[in-house]
Amino acid sequence: MDSKYASVGKEKENKNSFDNIKVKKIKLCSDNNLKQTKDNLKVCETNGVKQNSLPKSNSSYDISEDIHEVRKTLPVYVVRGRLIEEIKKHNTMIIIGETGSGKTTQIPQIIYEHQQGSKSIIAVTQPRRVAAITLAMRVAAEMRTEIGTTVGYCVRFEDVTSSRTKVKYLTDGMLLREAVADPLLKKYSIIILDEAHERTVNTDILFGIVKLAQKERNNQKVNPLKVIIMSATMDVDRFRNFYENCPVIYLEGRTYPVTIYHSKTKHEDYQYAAVCTIFQLHATTPANHDFLVFLTGQEEIETVMSKIKQLAKECSGPPIKVCPLYAGLPASKQLQVWKKSPPGTRKIVLATNIAEASVTIPQIKCVIDTGVVKERTWCTSTGAERLTVRACSQAAGWQRAGRAGRTAAGAAYRLYTAGDFAARPEHNVPEIVRCPLTSSMLMLIATEMDPSTFPLIDAPPRESIEASLLLLKELGAIDSEVNPKLTLLGKKMTAFPIDPKYAKVLLCAPEFNCLEEALSLVAVMSSENVFYTPLHKREDAFKVKQKFISPLGDHITLLNVYKAFCKAPFKKQWCKENFLNHKNLSYAFEVRSQLLSVCQRLNLPVTSCGSVMDQLLKCLLSGLFTNCAWARAGAGAGAARYVTGAGAAAALHPGGALAAARPPPAAVLYSELLHTRRAYLVTVSAVQPHWLQQVAPDYARRSRNR
Ligand code: ADP
Ligand code: MG
Repeated sequence: MDSKYASVGKEKENKNSFDNIKVKKIKLCSDNNLKQTKDNLKVCETNGVKQNSLPKSNSSYDISEDIHEVRKTLPVYVVRGRLIEEIKKHNTMIIIGETGSGKTTQIPQIIYEHQQGSKSIIAVTQPRRVAAITLAMRVAAEMRTEIGTTVGYCVRFEDVTSSRTKVKYLTDGMLLREAVADPLLKKYSIIILDEAHERTVNTDILFGIVKLAQKERNNQKVNPLKVIIMSATMDVDRFRNFYENCPVIYLEGRTYPVTIYHSKTKHEDYQYAAVCTIFQLHATTPANHDFLVFLTGQEEIETVMSKIKQLAKECSGPPIKVCPLYAGLPASKQLQVWKKSPPGTRKIVLATNIAEASVTIPQIKCVIDTGVVKERTWCTSTGAERLTVRACSQAAGWQRAGRAGRTAAGAAYRLYTAGDFAARPEHNVPEIVRCPLTSSMLMLIATEMDPSTFPLIDAPPRESIEASLLLLKELGAIDSEVNPKLTLLGKKMTAFPIDPKYAKVLLCAPEFNCLEEALSLVAVMSSENVFYTPLHKREDAFKVKQKFISPLGDHITLLNVYKAFCKAPFKKQWCKENFLNHKNLSYAFEVRSQLLSVCQRLNLPVTSCGSVMDQLLKCLLSGLFTNCAWARAGAGAGAARYVTGAGAAAALHPGGALAAARPPPAAVLYSELLHTRRAYLVTVSAVQPHWLQQVAPDYARRSRNR
């Protein structure tokens, strides 16, 4: 064992009974240097997996657990009386409690139980939709109520609450939307901002909105608001400073021990290392130990999934059930992860960081942490988004390991060295400093807050704010960049739970007589890649794709795919034959119906442009005008080079419909500017240069003057 880590984790027996739950104290901390203890995290180094290093199969773990009994053993439940006293005393507080101590499921319940009969609602925010849904389901079960009655949830495209709902789990994005209609969030008496350490843009903005709402409501002395900020791992000092030195309640004690193993050597290929570790563990652990593997995205998950399926045929050991879990997966498919697998089967969950915090997947006893995450960053000057795979923070590492000790003792295998871990930043870089802010700015302005004085824990770069205000102005969403107010169009944009550029496309569509098509296109663009290209059948997939390809480009190609999908009677089979991703097309179908209902609420006429595709492309351009690129004059042979409106040089993506067009189109509209080794325009259509002047005159003028 690495001596450096001996002091981090105290050794504990891996005994899997409830006796090892000790709630030692609730400590009210005023010291600045609060350190998180990692009491039950035992850290070791390993070359491979030692059989005896895993928790033994245990008889006390029962999947038909009595959930009412389980809750009574949780550290938070045990100290509920004292906790309620603290909550009564303070208007704002930070609660730090180790993962699994019962913060998210128990604190809202004990507040509810204490306030029984009160009309007010407790809101609990989550950065991720799958967490909000599964937590609400768990709490409803613990409270013996139907989901949607006393306990409900509200996530993008799904509201499962009623007038009786008193405990509401919702994504931070949804609470932000509610703040647009009511900036004082008057229907809530308590707002719990959970997983504060994730620092999503939405949570960061909510911190400010809730702070201002609380100040205002508490000044008025009617309907005061209590705010609780919760996390297992966070930069407490920053948050305390922001919330005027509010008290920090520190709950010690976690439920089950997790032993952490670090790799002794560095791995060149973490995917390969993950597959090896999965099969080493598979051969040495009992079948009721399920695995959770952290990977970076859908494609990687699908690759590893097919590798596992292939190797499983050649390996001994119990049958394997592989379940993917990533943001773009339809909700019903995500929830498969929580379904019990047949006895004797090993479940292997392959997840992105959406399974990192908040969620409990019962029976997970082994976490395999590749230590990486895919992050989107944005360059304000070129408008280029970069998807980069990079090492995740230490906080993320602790969260991931914590997933192994939720319902029994577990182990986490880090596929990186202890030294590597120690060298990582302690916390996540807040999203607000590295992401486009257009959506958030629109919401903020909609709540009638002034972006220039709005309180934020970390200020985004000034250019980033300026760029988003300029874009909102050119989209016609705000009247001015200085002291901005929403226009009527801007107000309508806030009704759509999508990027303002795409909301503009839908709102303009009736003018171009193409809402029918625009809805399908926006829906399919909200989904992950609909084309499925298995490595060994590349040519077949390419041939089949030709029948959907439009000479006008990728957008109309996508529309062709979507239309054909809707007509196909046996969709799954049809997708398989056509090398299309059934899951992603079904997701697009779901999204379209949600977007349609917003359009109907706004009384937008749903008409079709038939085969006049220019109408649809002009409509698309009216929202995505900043995504234009022009062919560079004098380009020689080879791939045509383009320059974007913001001056970035890029080539058409070789997989796109226009990549082989000769001559290459003079002007194109693209959905994404992607930087891998080179810069590529992804999802591209040919447009007429003069259309820009017609649909976005302000922007056309600005780009001419540059
Ligand atoms: P925290 O927010 O402190 O990390 P939670 O309140 O989410 O903890 O969960 C506390 C414990 O409740 C978990 O460790 C687990 O034992 C149990 N639990 C919560 N949700 C579920 C679930 N969906 N299935 C099984 N057990 C669960
Ligand atoms: Mg939690």
